[in-house]
Order: sequence, then structure tokens, then C-alpha cells
Amino acid sequence: MSARIIDGKQVAAELRASVAARTAGLGYTPGLVVVLVGDDPASSVYVRNKDRAANAAGIAARTIRLPAATTEAAVLAVIAGLNADAAVDGILVQLPLPPQIRARAVIEAIDPAKDVDGFHPINVGRLHDGVASLVPCTPLGVMKLLAASGTPLRGVRALVLGRSAIVGKPMAALLTAADATVTIAHSRTADLAAECRRAEVLVAAVGRPEMVRGDWIAPGAVVIDVGINRRADGALVGDVAGAEAARVAAAITPVPGGVGPMTIACLLENTVTAAAARRAAA
Ligand code: NDP
Repeated sequence: MSARIIDGKQVAAELRASVAARTAGLGYTPGLVVVLVGDDPASSVYVRNKDRAANAAGIAARTIRLPAATTEAAVLAVIAGLNADAAVDGILVQLPLPPQIRARAVIEAIDPAKDVDGFHPINVGRLHDGVASLVPCTPLGVMKLLAASGTPLRGVRALVLGRSAIVGKPMAALLTAADATVTIAHSRTADLAAECRRAEVLVAAVGRPEMVRGDWIAPGAVVIDVGINRRADGALVGDVAGAEAARVAAAITPVPGGVGPMTIACLLENTVTAAAARRAAA
């Protein structure tokens, strides 16, 4: 048996096209501002890609680049300015931040109505309350891939491997809201392989190259690999040993070309969602 490949590139392209169609009909141009502090090369690439994808979808996107030595107070002043700017619908602060800046203080300073990353505690709380909100882009993208692949979730045993605030926890909240029976596993889980083997839907977000082996996967499971890791030989691999897993799973996302493209597409969708909600309330 060989698993069906869930094509994130295609699903993301469709989502970007639907966002572009939505922006074209709005009568205004939604604004997205990315704040980048320092010169981390990976962050620079992400930010450039976000800007380019947003502009192609009819969103006015720009990046504010601040030097690595910027103080927390200066970043907070920039956020305050963006909160007050009516043309700005979405604010995203690229993580990680330099050590002198507390990420928590910066995230909490963002107007929750403009928090397109969905990291503000108000949006986190709404998500866990099951109330519609701005949802973190990566887990939102995973939900869209599950939907696009026709994976039923109601009553299904789902395992989320990883409990970060960015991926694991919001992922578990979304799967719970979709009526899956959810287990969250992490570095203190006693028998990870056994937990994984029970899962009908397995979402891996650990940041450990190819940690999930083929024999950890239940035959016929749907496997979503959030991981993006650079192996010692330079290859880009997921948290799942893809070739092994594909022999057992019913469906699996590739790395690259699975969850990755969905994250930016969901950011664009969140920007339009934020714009529509805020401007309707204004
Ligand atoms: P974090 O490092 O914040 O969290 C990793 C989680 O995995 C933690 O909960 C940790 O457990 C758990 N973990 C780590 N090692 C083990 C282990 N040996 N056994 C069991 N659990 C373990 O990572 P993120 O959630 O930010 O990212 C996870 C992966 O997803 C990374 O590869 C990252 O690159 C990728 N990613 C991809 C995105 C995309 O767009 N496709 C976006 C964001 C992330 P504990 O809490 O106990 O420490």
C-alpha cells in the first residue's frame, strides 16, 4: 500500500486564489504589517515570502525592519503606532525576537483584532472556548488540509505530537472543536510509539527530524507532518520518516510541499478576516 499524498501546494494555491477573489470585492485594500527585529536569515526569507504572497493576493503588505539592538520599549512604540493606524488590519511580529525583548510583552501589546498570528491571549482564550477568532496559521492550515483530503474527524482518535503555543496546543483545540478525541503527546510522554500507534489522525510537530517511524503509525492513519528540519546532509525533512510512513498510512503530507505552504496562505486569510471584522465594527 502507498499513502495518498496530500498536496499542500495545491490546497494553498486554491486558498490564495480565494483570498484574492475576496480582496477584489472588498472596496478597500487590507493592510498587513510584518515587524522584523534583527537579521536572522531564515526570518528574512519568511518575511519576504509573506510580503510577496500578500501583495499578490491584493493585500498591501510591508515589513518594518528594526535593528537587532532595538529595545523592547521601541518595539512596543511601533506596535502602538500600528494599533492606531486605521489602514493596518493585520500585525505580525516575526519570532524569534532578540533576547532583550520579551516576546510575551510584544504579543500582548498587539490589538487582538489585528493579531493575525492568533497568539494574543484573548484570541488563544477564544479558541479554547470554541468561539470564532483569529486562529494560529499553521494549525489552521492543517485543519484545511484535513478537510481538503476528506478526512473525517468526528469521534476519531487524533494524536498531536508537540505542545507548543504556536502549533501543538492550538492544533489540539481545533481538533477538539471538530469533535475528534484528542491526545497531546510531548517530551515527557511515557511510550510515544504506542500513543502514536493508537492514532487515526496523527499530527507531528516536534522539530525532531524523522522521529516518527513507519512502525509508529497505525495502518490506514492520516499523517500530517508539520516539521521542517534541515538534516546533517542538507536535506529538508519532516518530523516523520516520510517514505516509511507512506507505506503504512492512508494519506500523508509531504515535506516540503505539505503544511508549509498552508501557513502563509492562512495568514492571508486571517488578514482578510481581521479586516472584514474590524471594518464592519468601525
Ligand atoms: P517547539 O520546539 O516549540 O515544540 C516542540 C514540541 O515537541 C514540544 O512540546 C516538545 O515537548 C515536543 N518534543 C520535543 N522533542 C520531543 C521528543 N523527543 N519526544 C516527544 N516530544 C518532543 O516547536 P514548534 O511547535 O514551534 O514546531 C514544531 C515543528 O514544526 C518544527 O519542526 C518547526 O520547524 C515546524 N513548524 C513548521 C511550520 C510550518 O509552517 N510548516 C510552522 C511552525 C513550526 P515539551 O513541551 O515537553 O518540551
